Amino acid sequence: MIEPGATIGIIGGGQLGRMLGMAAAQLGYKCHIFDPHERPCAADVAAEFTRAEFDDVEALRRFGDTIDVATYEFENLPVAPLQVLGEKLSPSTRSLAVAQDRAVEKQFIEDCGGRVAPWRAVDWIEDVRNAVGELGCAIVLKTRRYGYDGKGQAWIRSDGESEVAWQAIGEQPAVAESAVDFEAEFSVIVARWADGRHKFWDSAINEHRDGILRRSTVPCSALVAGQLAEARKAALAIAEALGHVGVLTVEFFASAEGPVVNEIAPRVHNSGHWTIEGAVTSQFEQHVRAICGLPPGSTARVSGGAVMDNLIGDDVDRWPELVAEEGAHLHIYGKGEARPGRKMGHVTRVVR
Ligand code: AMP
Repeated sequence: MIEPGATIGIIGGGQLGRMLGMAAAQLGYKCHIFDPHERPCAADVAAEFTRAEFDDVEALRRFGDTIDVATYEFENLPVAPLQVLGEKLSPSTRSLAVAQDRAVEKQFIEDCGGRVAPWRAVDWIEDVRNAVGELGCAIVLKTRRYGYDGKGQAWIRSDGESEVAWQAIGEQPAVAESAVDFEAEFSVIVARWADGRHKFWDSAINEHRDGILRRSTVPCSALVAGQLAEARKAALAIAEALGHVGVLTVEFFASAEGPVVNEIAPRVHNSGHWTIEGAVTSQFEQHVRAICGLPPGSTARVSGGAVMDNLIGDDVDRWPELVAEEGAHLHIYGKGEARPGRKMGHVTRVVR
């Protein structure tokens, strides 16, 4: 067990690192942030900050000497340099390697018994045309790597659009995936301990706009609730096959055939922010508990439900009105410039 007073290293200094750092501090841990940016928002709430590139092995080695356990808050990290952290890294690089390549990820999910949309790996425009021929339209092309919040994606709605879509994603290795006719999107968030213990939270229904999460709501609808047993089984099988320690998120489409996995994130997730005020133990605290080997906290809801709205770009300018609203829990990430599409904060309203 890594006891309070120890130092947790967090690779990545965004809002997820910031909220992890705040939860860690509550339990008496210190955090050391590792990030290439000048002033990442997680560093504002951490004891230490190393500014270095993610592939700077020497800097990672020095960072590793100052911490008791390390974790990461996003998945687009080069895997090989992280090996210098050895056993200290939790979850391990295996979770990272699977989650950061959409083709590897889909194969892995299928091997675990999960359902994914029909898909093909594509390396050339000929592959794209073949995929369109075999799968039919509509299809979404997604780059194998470095996609997030709908970036690196292009839709093909008719045969003639293959070329334009291939160019739009930068003519790089990708997956071609059939459009899923879904009733709703939802996520299963699970925390897993090294000895196999695990805890689920209630699943939120997730609403996206322009590929970015806008709102998460718990409890979910009856339709999604009817798919949860199968979805949880798939999520746990994935976590176990990865040997994942910490929080893992699996995003699903609720389709007429049952739950279809969209993607996995080997970390705390935007659709779990409601747990800060809406559950007994937040996803951030639970991640700290799992990677430090503390006992699991209760994931029960504290009330009838919760609604979390993201503040994207200049939405955050509404803060004076939100901070004055009774019962609204406002979170501002302290990121500086409110560029369009940038996640600047969120607000959670707990439903009594
Ligand atoms: P992703 O970055 O893969 O999470 O995709 C962002 C959003 O695009 C998803 O949350 C869905 O709303 C939509 N989307 C992605 N893939 C599909 C699909 N195969 N069928 C229908 N909608 C999709």
